[in-house]
Amino acid sequence: MNYDYDLFVIGAGSGGVRASRMSSSFGARVAICEDLYMGGTCVNVGCVPKKLYVYASEYSAHFNESEGFGWQSAKATFDWSTLRDNKIAEISRLNGIYDGILANANVDVIKGRGKVVDQHTVEVAGKKYTTERILISVGGWPFVPDIEGKEFVVNSNEVFDLETFPNRIVVVGGGYIAVEFAGIFNGLGSQVTQLYRGDLFLRGFDNEVRDFAAQEIAKKGVDLRFNTDVTSITKQADGTLKIELNDGTSIEADAVLYATGRKPQLANLGLENVNIKLTDSGYIKVNEQFQTSEASIYALGDVTGGMELTPVALEEGMALARGLYNNASWKMDYSNIATTVFCQPNIGTVGMTEEQARAEYPNVVKYRSSFRAMKHTISGSQERTLMKLVVDGDTDKILGVHMVGSDAGEIMQGIAIAIKAGATKSDFDATIGIHPTAAEEFVTMREPVAD
Ligand code: NDP
Repeated sequence: MNYDYDLFVIGAGSGGVRASRMSSSFGARVAICEDLYMGGTCVNVGCVPKKLYVYASEYSAHFNESEGFGWQSAKATFDWSTLRDNKIAEISRLNGIYDGILANANVDVIKGRGKVVDQHTVEVAGKKYTTERILISVGGWPFVPDIEGKEFVVNSNEVFDLETFPNRIVVVGGGYIAVEFAGIFNGLGSQVTQLYRGDLFLRGFDNEVRDFAAQEIAKKGVDLRFNTDVTSITKQADGTLKIELNDGTSIEADAVLYATGRKPQLANLGLENVNIKLTDSGYIKVNEQFQTSEASIYALGDVTGGMELTPVALEEGMALARGLYNNASWKMDYSNIATTVFCQPNIGTVGMTEEQARAEYPNVVKYRSSFRAMKHTISGSQERTLMKLVVDGDTDKILGVHMVGSDAGEIMQGIAIAIKAGATKSDFDATIGIHPTAAEEFVTMREPVAD
């Protein structure tokens, strides 16, 4: 059978773009379609603009802390529209780079929503394309629960482009996005209230890390309210929002951000035309080779409901291309993937939490250090840092490394290599530190702690 393409990719986010250009480099004839923005969530409404906003939000602390070091600056003021518009310009530059990368890689880029017509046909903007294989990499979309006044809230896509800066903002949710945006708006000067429905936010992270992060974030000025949820939101005559809470109290704010998770983007994909099975949570079900229940249709990245992280989707895209078109191993290794929450201070983590380790290993040994970083001896900041090693006492192997502190994301990337290589506590002990850094604490923790 003669197809128009070997591989037709639906969705030009991190995973789809990587899979398409690598497949093309291995000789496959590839097309990719996209109905929204090139680069997907990460480039447009995720990692990249988020990190730019995190940088912006850190300046307020830098200005304040500089005075202890002798700097006397005029009181700094912040202009939201400058940040937002510079961000828009940078993202549009990156969109262009993505177009260029795909064109250079000989991938046909087709604008429009791709719809699966049958096992070997995709329709985009009224035109049908035949293909030996289809890859679905359409990612996810923010989920906002049905609450009274839902029409007044913004989601994590919309929050980047707010028309006016919210002097008071309520952030709902306790995951990565909620915690990061609470920090962003707090640093930019908003009065931030973060509401989380459970006892303690960042479910799934190490418990001591969650506790410590909550204390540090509250110290920075975020009004953290746990076991609290919204019952309704109304718009008042002056345009401000009134948020009624389940504890009977209410808050007024200029904006409400809902960061309550994301769902796969399956609408209008034509899945009803084929036999693709979904997981219980509604994601596309795939095997280890990213193959769906239709042998010619593959899926990867956020739409499959694994770890929703750009580097994971990128690696999956590489694995698919290698497996299909380069006779190489498909095998993805999802163990010990380091991750960071870009709140202030950062949370960086790789490997098991203490709770996970204790559930699996009988003899867990823990090392922990908490200190005020050298910079803050004269910066005036009360920020503290937490570092923690979780070790298997029987084999000496490091099972998990956790940090709450400045640059934890940068530090954890290096630590992750050691963990991936199977480092033991003795390897950490035998490593001579870099002085003076905060990171050296990871190789100088000698005494285990009991609790
Ligand atoms: P998460 O799934 O991480 O968190 C969702 C949060 O919303 C949880 O605290 C959850 O509570 C809460 N929630 C869910 N439903 C409701 C509801 N109906 N009412 C009130 N609260 C609710 O999602 P995010 O949106 O924060 O992020 C999505 C994913 O994107 C992350 O899991 C992560 O993989 C990725 N990401 C990664 C980043 C990074 O690497 N730095 C940054 C941003 C996102 P509960 O815990 O009780 O379920």
